[in-house]
Amino acid sequence: MARIIYVNGRYQPYAKASIHVEDRGFQFSDGVYEVCFIHNGKIVDLTGHLERLDRSLFELRMAPPMKRPALVHVLNETVRRNHIRNGSAYLQVTRGAARRAFTFPSKDIGSSLICMARPHDERKNNALAAKGICVQTVPDIRWARRDIKSISLLPQMLASQTALDQGCAEALMVDDKGFITEGSHSNAWMVDKDNRLLTRRADNSILRGRTRQAVVATIKKLGLKFEERAFSVDEALAASEVFVTSTTALLMPVIEVDGRQIGAGVPGDTSIKLRRQICESYGMQKNEWPASP
Ligand code: PMP
Repeated sequence: MARIIYVNGRYQPYAKASIHVEDRGFQFSDGVYEVCFIHNGKIVDLTGHLERLDRSLFELRMAPPMKRPALVHVLNETVRRNHIRNGSAYLQVTRGAARRAFTFPSKDIGSSLICMARPHDERKNNALAAKGICVQTVPDIRWARRDIKSISLLPQMLASQTALDQGCAEALMVDDKGFITEGSHSNAWMVDKDNRLLTRRADNSILRGRTRQAVVATIKKLGLKFEERAFSVDEALAASEVFVTSTTALLMPVIEVDGRQIGAGVPGDTSIKLRRQICESYGMQKNEWPASP
């Protein structure tokens, strides 16, 4: 089945979809994006994603590409035209195409909007979650506005590749004080010996993950111990559990950091419990949750 991509007002076959060479996203990374989880053909937490998109646009002084209902229509229509039951939708807005200049275009050139959707095999994700993943720490070399979901992803791409080169599924980025900021494409968490969940405060040093938000809500609902503060690599190595959260991976238990085993070396009880709760809140059935290790 041919993939269909939405580009600036048109639904086009994958091979034909293209943008202008002077698109500011292409030349300057002058754009923002969102990735949403699709379950049973429906986009999960769509309002939350669109609110974060609006915030990213505002912070970069970019106008929304269209009104909210029209954007929702484009997203849903892209999901529908690609017949996605389970997968993800990708939305990208750039400042548009204009003669190359560092300053903003002087007149309104209209932003560029791209929307894609693709299927995921949730069984693979669940099998990985049942086993747990290994992660590698790397220095965080990014800019100071990591709260903006910018398409400028060079440091994350390099971190991700470094992790893969070590046989790891994700990189944990570390600030110059030795504290973990977040994963290359996920938020980082740990459970201490007191069963207290820790994750970094959602200030400008990390992305305000939508899945992070869902986990915070679940923790509050279950009445678990919770503290929003940065934790160091040493604390992570001594933790009972470590996990990362993201839209596509949901909640992924970490069993090894820099080649050193975390806890018992298998996904911990709290990680499994929280992942199940997230799956349930996204409307998944029990048979779609990960098997217990
Ligand atoms: N941090 C970074 C740097 C990311 O790229 C992502 C995934 N986009 C996340 C955190 C997780 O955010 P979310 O739960 O909204 O996918």
